[in-house]
Amino acid sequence: MKLYPIETGNFKLDGGAMFGVVPKSIWNKTNPADTNNLIDMAARSLLIEDGNRLILIDTGMGNKQSEKFFGYYSLWGSHSLDSSLTKYGFHRDDITDVFLTHLHFDHCGGAIQWNKDKTGYEPAFKNAKFWTNENHWQWATEPNSREKASFLTENILPMQQSGQLHFIPKNSSDFLEKSALDFGIFFVDGHTEKQMIPHIQYKGKTIVFCADLLPTAGHIPIPYVMGYDTRPLLTMDEKTKFMHTAADNNYYLFLEHDAHNEIITVQHTEKGVRLNEVFSCADIL
Ligand SMILES: [Zn+2]
Repeated sequence: MKLYPIETGNFKLDGGAMFGVVPKSIWNKTNPADTNNLIDMAARSLLIEDGNRLILIDTGMGNKQSEKFFGYYSLWGSHSLDSSLTKYGFHRDDITDVFLTHLHFDHCGGAIQWNKDKTGYEPAFKNAKFWTNENHWQWATEPNSREKASFLTENILPMQQSGQLHFIPKNSSDFLEKSALDFGIFFVDGHTEKQMIPHIQYKGKTIVFCADLLPTAGHIPIPYVMGYDTRPLLTMDEKTKFMHTAADNNYYLFLEHDAHNEIITVQHTEKGVRLNEVFSCADIL
């Protein structure tokens, strides 16, 4: 097995929204804001090459929305999904599976593209199975008013219409030891219903794709929960459990949204679980 980080493009988000009730004087130290109060964000996917399978975890936001839409997200940098795949000798048509942690636009937008004459949408990975889970699919396709702006119909329905949609079967526990994609999955409900957090065994280490359970290294303290989360108290419970397990087992935490810290480990301290070491993907993968 081989893992590759796939940078799909950087953007910015409101720092206050990213840190919920935490005051700017605190979060600004780890995630400095620009003059518009925006902080740097990454959309770092992970590619798993395993036998004849090529699995992409999350896709970034893609490019099919309007200039006005992308204007809200202040795109920056030169990364793109295609150039990142090319760097490692891959093409999007080589991808056999696209695993989506959840269906918010910054995680799944890149899964769907305009068709040739721009009259409709089609999968951007024509040979891939798209993986979500049934509970999350239902949640995303009948969105509540809070998350409606994040679940965009054009990102979601074409997966089903193309016949490429598959569900990860969920058992009764919140941790699935071995999914259809061979890695373990931790199911969490605080950010959105049944977000899936992949746990990958790799060269004797556990690499965890943290998605929106731990968006950046600045979010390690338990109450540092995004304003976007639908059930913040539940996120705090889930983070408590997760961060303790991560410190106990020396998990390598792959940060999808942290523009400046790619992989981190955490440790127990008197104040609770805190940052231990920061690594680049090149160090670990
Ligand atoms: Zn996100």
